[in-house]
Amino acid sequence: MDRAERVPVAIVGAGPVGLAAALDLARHGIRSVVLDMKPQVAWTSRAICISRRSLEILDRIGEGGRIAAKGLGWTSGTTFHRERPVFRLEMPHGPADRHPPFVNIQQFWTESFLLAALADTGLAAIRWNAEVTGLSQGAEGATLTLADGGSLSAAYVVAADGGRSRLRDLLGLRLEGTSYEGRYLIADIEIGAPRAVERQVWFDPPSNPGSTTILHVQPDGVWRLDFQLTDEDDAEAELSPERLSARIGRHLAMLGLAGEPWRLLWSSLYRAHCLTLPDYVSGRVAFAGDAAHLVPIFGVRGLNSGFDDAHNLAWKLAALLDGSAGPGLLASYSAERVAATRHNIAEATKSTWFMSPPSPGFRLLRDAAVALAGDHPAFRPLINPRQSAPFAYTHSPLTTPDPAPGAGVAAGQPLPDLPLPDGSRLHARLPRRGFAVLGCGVPAPRVAGAAALDLPPLPELTGDACPVLLVRPDEYVAARFASAEAAPVAAALSRALGHEQSARSAAA
Ligand SMILES: Cc1cc2nc3c(=O)[nH]c(=O)nc-3n(C[C@H](O)[C@H](O)[C@H](O)COP(=O)(O)OP(=O)(O)OC[C@H]3O[C@@H](n4cnc5c(N)ncnc54)[C@H](O)[C@@H]3O)c2cc1C
Repeated sequence: MDRAERVPVAIVGAGPVGLAAALDLARHGIRSVVLDMKPQVAWTSRAICISRRSLEILDRIGEGGRIAAKGLGWTSGTTFHRERPVFRLEMPHGPADRHPPFVNIQQFWTESFLLAALADTGLAAIRWNAEVTGLSQGAEGATLTLADGGSLSAAYVVAADGGRSRLRDLLGLRLEGTSYEGRYLIADIEIGAPRAVERQVWFDPPSNPGSTTILHVQPDGVWRLDFQLTDEDDAEAELSPERLSARIGRHLAMLGLAGEPWRLLWSSLYRAHCLTLPDYVSGRVAFAGDAAHLVPIFGVRGLNSGFDDAHNLAWKLAALLDGSAGPGLLASYSAERVAATRHNIAEATKSTWFMSPPSPGFRLLRDAAVALAGDHPAFRPLINPRQSAPFAYTHSPLTTPDPAPGAGVAAGQPLPDLPLPDGSRLHARLPRRGFAVLGCGVPAPRVAGAAALDLPPLPELTGDACPVLLVRPDEYVAARFASAEAAPVAAALSRALGHEQSARSAAA
């Protein structure tokens, strides 16, 4: 075989996670090549709810602006029993928050904006029509072979090749967990009628009796309708234009929109999965996004957790490539993100069981809770939809145990993008790449390998005990300190770069 072209990082999959990984690597000055078997960006809307934390990540990697500007922000939701509102979801959103808890935007916009931002970096090449069919790896890197006979070698490979990941198969790896029988029918319609931008869900509505329906509003006058099918429904038959139109028409009529013109843009069938690889690293290959895990859409953790993967992985690959990483750093990617997935699966399982009860007894209880919630507030917490929230790496091998957990933002949590007295934002003050030591009301200790930031007192961040923080390149707090001494900060930095023996442990 000819000597393969060699790059620092090869990314398989130009879905949103692969594109975000490439953009994040470019932020760290790392070149990558992204390979995708498709001819261009997919046009389907799929994941539409982007979380505040994802928007912060996108801001940091150079593409928050267009997605946030195009997306429709929302902070609330309404749950209906039949046609009666029984629960109001209000998510925290105050003047200190730069972004709303969620914005809705079609996935093709997210991908297109990421692609445009990537082109601006000049550090990533996208190769469409490039199907990866083979993989070999050794101590120095991996070589991918392509369907067209070409090949590409890289020091590291990011497997972001989606739920049916070929790289998973090539490495003989299997997802573990549960797949649910229940089917959902997704339809995007173009419709001129105004509608509040919030999450709306109906249990047992007259338009879909015995089942559930979810409605989200997207940009450009598009609504996402998500119909749960019953066991008696023939899923494929329900996708036919006649039956789908009738189902949508019934829901619109229920909303008082019987005569409103609308047009079907996209429809698809969906099945809930709670599946994960037990380890996201295999030699020189790191799995991210749907290739690593599949979670139900309830709570919108699918794509949002994929952005978390990309952001966690990119700085670690950069540190491995520049020689600053310790032996445990790549393993910590798996430890941290597998722990996040297991948490996501636990939360999403509760939501899935609530949306599709797994037994007649559970259904009886669910129906009773929904019916009673309207008049009895005690039942309302039971129907809270548990939306995606940032995961804390409290038990990560990279995190130094916090001296004052419970006060301020503890070690292992993401640094909030707080407004500062001078009108700037905390994340904008962080260095573009690398670690930062924050001194809040005290001089930040100067340590090699981290930027020092002298800030005003920020009690919501530090509590009253820990004015010094070590912040990772992915905005996670790696450690907090009661005093401004350099030696403990340097030790925590070493640990956060995977130099501690304990970082080799996969038990996060
Ligand atoms: C019908 C549907 C509806 C969905 N709805 C929602 C939703 O409402 N909310 C939500 O949060 N999530 C939803 N999701 C999930 C969400 O879209 C995914 O979480 C997200 O796309 C994951 O991004 P990814 O980049 O990991 O993978 P993908 O977007 O799947 O991208 C993987 C890429 O890898 C490429 N690829 C695969 N194999 C190869 C190969 N051998 N060689 C080269 N390239 C390859 C593919 O062409 C693809 O472009 C939905 C998914 C589907 C299918």
